[in-house]
Amino acid sequence: MKDCIFCKIANKEIPTDILYEDDLVMAFNDIRPIAPLHVLVIPKKHIESVVELKEGDEILAGRIIMVAKSLAEKLGTAEGGYKLLFRVRKDGGQEVGHIHLHLLGGGPLKEIIRPR
Ligand code: AMP
Ligand code: ZN
Repeated sequence: MKDCIFCKIANKEIPTDILYEDDLVMAFNDIRPIAPLHVLVIPKKHIESVVELKEGDEILAGRIIMVAKSLAEKLGTAEGGYKLLFRVRKDGGQEVGHIHLHLLGGGPLKEIIRPR
């Protein structure tokens, strides 16, 4: 979608340190990390938020979670633990309108309810 920053990342119009990519999803480091390890996993196709997931998106939604799980292992935070977070729409604090799963780890984590 035009003017969507994560579509631009998915289309490689904006260079990013890609940690993982396949036919459906991409993972890259968050530009403003709030944890020692902060990775975003996105679908390559534009879906605004979890609310807009439709029947037929099950494989894609599952892939996003499985990629986060695998990266947590690869990046060494699976043993200690981590958080997975979807913010959903305005009241959920979502700022970028293209689904992204936050993988937060790399050590003990504080609660991350963001003040508004
Ligand atoms: P949310 O508030 O859940 O919508 O999270 C959006 C996240 O996207 C924030 O953690 C931002 O730091 C991150 N972000 C925004 N632009 C970029 C970018 N160009 N590359 C990487 N992460 C980004
Ligand atoms: Zn998009």
